[in-house]
Amino acid sequence: MGVKAKLSVYRAKRDFTRTAEPSGEGEVAGGNRRRFVIQKHAATRLHYDFRLELDGVFKSWAVTRGPSLDPHDKRLAVAVEDHPLDYGDFEGAIPKGEYGGGTVLLWDRGYWEPEGEARPEEALAAGDLKFVLDGERLHGSWVLVRMKHDRFGGRRTNWLLIKHRDGYAREGDGGAILAEDRSVASGRSMEEIAAGKGPAPRPFMRAGRGSRG
Ligand code: MN
Repeated sequence: MGVKAKLSVYRAKRDFTRTAEPSGEGEVAGGNRRRFVIQKHAATRLHYDFRLELDGVFKSWAVTRGPSLDPHDKRLAVAVEDHPLDYGDFEGAIPKGEYGGGTVLLWDRGYWEPEGEARPEEALAAGDLKFVLDGERLHGSWVLVRMKHDRFGGRRTNWLLIKHRDGYAREGDGGAILAEDRSVASGRSMEEIAAGKGPAPRPFMRAGRGSRG
């Protein structure tokens, strides 16, 4: 499936005359490393959107309680539609009444790579993707595992995001990382972003090949 077809659900959900979110028409150059972003999103219910670059789009999950560094914590991650790569530079306020209305803050970003022998496309299809993050806040080894039975009766959109044991794990204090709550792209708080104040986010996806932005 081409990138345009992958983004059809993303586009259908949004009215780009009303939201400042990218339409996905913009070109983002591929790099030699796969990128990831996490966006804190104060929608109807606060969540953290976790996005992994794969084959020209962001595979995306809404992590309801945010990532935890404690390997005992299994954080629900609901699979959502593929997002365009330029979404990884989006920070701002989606108008109330529009899809996903609420404030979006760039909480983390950096690079990821799959662990193990399987291609990431195959690992995702099998519902078990192990990977390493090299972000500004999150590092080390993680897994996304799809739940075999979920309350949606077989649609299987529910995954779990779990930290593996390594030097970046924090047993018993896994949620403390969420106290770091300013944008990695602009330094702004949610309140400043909601008010449209402060500096614009420094680009990452459009910052050029190999740049951290
Ligand atoms: Mn969201």
